[in-house]
Amino acid sequence: MTPPRPRQTDEHPDGIDLPLDRLPGHSSRGRLERVLRRGEFAVTTELNPPDSADPEDVYNRAKIFDGWVDGINAVDASGANCHMSSVGICALLTRMGYAPIMQIACRDKNRIAIQGDVLGAAAMGVANILCLTGDGVQAGDQPGAKPVFDLDSMSLLETVRIMRDNGKFLSGRKLTTPPQLFLGAAVNPFAPPYDFRPVHLGKKIAAGAQFVQSQYCFDVPMFRTFMQRVRDLGYAEQCFILCGVGPLASAKTAKWIRSNVPGIHIPDSIIARLEGAQDQKKEGKQICIDIINEVKEIAGVAGIHVMAYRQEEYVAEIVDESGVLKGRRPWKREARPDDQLVASRLEHILHDDVTESQVDMVKTAH
Ligand SMILES: Cc1cc2nc3c(=O)[nH]c(=O)nc-3n(C[C@H](O)[C@H](O)[C@H](O)COP(=O)(O)OP(=O)(O)OC[C@H]3O[C@@H](n4cnc5c(N)ncnc54)[C@H](O)[C@@H]3O)c2cc1C
Repeated sequence: MTPPRPRQTDEHPDGIDLPLDRLPGHSSRGRLERVLRRGEFAVTTELNPPDSADPEDVYNRAKIFDGWVDGINAVDASGANCHMSSVGICALLTRMGYAPIMQIACRDKNRIAIQGDVLGAAAMGVANILCLTGDGVQAGDQPGAKPVFDLDSMSLLETVRIMRDNGKFLSGRKLTTPPQLFLGAAVNPFAPPYDFRPVHLGKKIAAGAQFVQSQYCFDVPMFRTFMQRVRDLGYAEQCFILCGVGPLASAKTAKWIRSNVPGIHIPDSIIARLEGAQDQKKEGKQICIDIINEVKEIAGVAGIHVMAYRQEEYVAEIVDESGVLKGRRPWKREARPDDQLVASRLEHILHDDVTESQVDMVKTAH
């Protein structure tokens, strides 16, 4: 007989991955809130959403973060470009025990659709929601799309908070089971008006944000100034602040991002450092590690959010080499006895001529 495997940190005592047991003072039953409330330095990352209907594309992208992160952000058409939806990605991830952070942008859905998604997500085991206004349609490759913006990040935070804490839809209609969620928002300390950014964070906290993830930090002194003001205003005690970081692939990419992606600030010194390197990709990774090593020492920083777009294979190395986890190993997915069965069913559905009836498929699965 195979001996029972040792339980992992943040695993449910009964071997079920999520949701975890309720803890006093926690509003969700997910891992990210636990790690942060325990005072551990948290690490989150972003999954590059596939342009595909194949679930394996999501699982392969999630697998490379195994054992290195406390949460995986499922983006919602960032840059206003269409990819697999955040709801779809979260459905796949929760099924495998991963802890997704579902991003909701207000650009594409009205309050009716969003509140329904919140309930559906919570029912699937999503414990974290990141509330965003979202990039405008003009930023994407379908600028003629109709923008919705019925809500914005603030009213979305309030809406989900009301659903969770008051057990009601915005209309006042009662929910039979309210969602248990840890609520987040985005902040950008690197875009003007700089003095307003900490105040803006305060408004998001008042609306319900319990954690925030920042835009990419390439300017540590600017982030330090932001954090000083955030601490002075008392916000660092009211909200967990995760600093956004990521590797730049080359000086050319950095220049392109600086000119074309609104809200991302990359100082000349970073570009010069990349230009002077023999291996620019390696240097980009090292810059990211150096930035992490500086921001992790700033009072009030509760973690990092690693956004390694198209360089996801570096996330584990970046987290490892920066030493932010201090030897801690976040939850890692272990193979399960029914994995093979699920994989072969998916293979069959996607690639074979499906002549079998649904009833037969259910019968043969047992
Ligand atoms: C971690 C992270 C994840 C993201 N994920 C997504 C995603 O999945 N999908 C997506 O579409 N976008 C995403 N974005 C982009 C984000 O939506 C835009 O950067 C947005 O402009 C700012 O974030 P927000 O949506 O929270 O907007 P908000 O903070 O609600 O702001 C909305 C707009 O109003 C402006 N604004 C607010 N207050 C003021 C003021 N007082 N003066 C002037 N301007 C003001 C802001 O600059 C912004 O343009 C993400 C950003 C981050 C940092």
